[in-house]
Amino acid sequence: MPPKIRKCSFCGRRESEVNLLITGLDGCICDECATQANQILKENRINARQKEQIELPKPSEIKAYLDNYVIGQDDAKMALSVAVYNHYKRLNNPAAEDEVELEKSNIIMVGSTGTGKTLLARSIAKMLVVPFTIVDATVLTQAGYVGEDVESILSRLLQESDYKPEVAERGIVFIDEIDKIARKGDNPSITRDVSGEGVQQALLKLLEGSVVNVPPYGGRKHPEQQFIQVNTKNILFICGGAFDGIEKRIAQRLNTHVVGFDAARNAAKIDKTNFMQYIAPMDLKSFGLIPEIIGRLPILTHLEPLGREALRNILTEPKNSIIKQYVKLFELDGVKLTFEDAVLDYVVDKAMEFNLGARGLRSIVETIMLELMFEVPSLNIKEYVVTLDYAKSKVEKANMTALQMKNE
Ligand code: ADP
Repeated sequence: MPPKIRKCSFCGRRESEVNLLITGLDGCICDECATQANQILKENRINARQKEQIELPKPSEIKAYLDNYVIGQDDAKMALSVAVYNHYKRLNNPAAEDEVELEKSNIIMVGSTGTGKTLLARSIAKMLVVPFTIVDATVLTQAGYVGEDVESILSRLLQESDYKPEVAERGIVFIDEIDKIARKGDNPSITRDVSGEGVQQALLKLLEGSVVNVPPYGGRKHPEQQFIQVNTKNILFICGGAFDGIEKRIAQRLNTHVVGFDAARNAAKIDKTNFMQYIAPMDLKSFGLIPEIIGRLPILTHLEPLGREALRNILTEPKNSIIKQYVKLFELDGVKLTFEDAVLDYVVDKAMEFNLGARGLRSIVETIMLELMFEVPSLNIKEYVVTLDYAKSKVEKANMTALQMKNE
């Protein structure tokens, strides 16, 4: 019997005509057909994502997931979990003409720097099956000025969705540092406010839900690009901002409102150490967000300032805590790294001193560890204990101003 000529069972080409022929039980496939098949699978997956009923994690499951990464901040976690859950529900149940339409509830999270706003957004992104993107409001300017147009937010979401608007339209966008586009005063501006009110007006269009022409590659560097139309009606927007100094406004409002019959009793109830918990939409307005934007961000939640105990937990508890990361790094070199408890307390003390929330923790630990990271791999040791004396000597030697600058 003559030897059988091996061919691709899909395109029929012979082994000599292709780069590679993979043999199966009853047939073969060539490299090109395999690549094509892979492409078809990928597209299929995206289409399925679009149509498929998304499996709903319960709000409590979403929160439990966030607990793995973020310490405390229960109010914000709860608001986020419910919002994401409802977002899925809306996507799974598009309203028929005469039915009750489920409207989306965008969120705004207020909390000082380093309390975990971005971390919350990042952590939730890990468990989502819809496209998700984080954008920084500081780069946005009014159309026509240097900087990015508001539409670039959607360009990012499109990139996450393989440029398929149907997929992007089910996505979630996190807009960080929303406070940076507040207008400068409470009064509508008479002078031009390029990065403030104008941007808010443009953003409003997205939040309200409208069909937007999006340059797929963002920016204005590609004038030849075709616009893609994206309807923002179902996109969930989560905003975050530090709103520096807003506590003062809250305090003022509480003081002026506490008048009349119950005044003394109410005043006594106010926790003066943490005004953030009383935040209300009117405080955002007095900070410089336009009322229309505030109206489109109906869920207002706050993040607690991180106290000593929370900071101490952040060092060691989260799944990828800073200390766990260093232990792992040394483990890869075959070294068992441990820290004296007093070192961790010392790091927390220093972080409290800098008043930068959890942001300071990493730079302080890095300052302590740098030299060790340099030396330990060549020392041929199996174990290393970081002592309080060692930690102190490193931090004291380091240039403190440099340490603080790093976090700005
Ligand atoms: P911001 O509120 O300014 O967005 P980030 O989320 O960027 O703060 O926090 C900065 C870093 O501090 C994070 O990478 C994380 O390591 C740590 N961090 C802040 N808050 C928490 C928290 N509540 N739980 C765990 N880690 C936190």
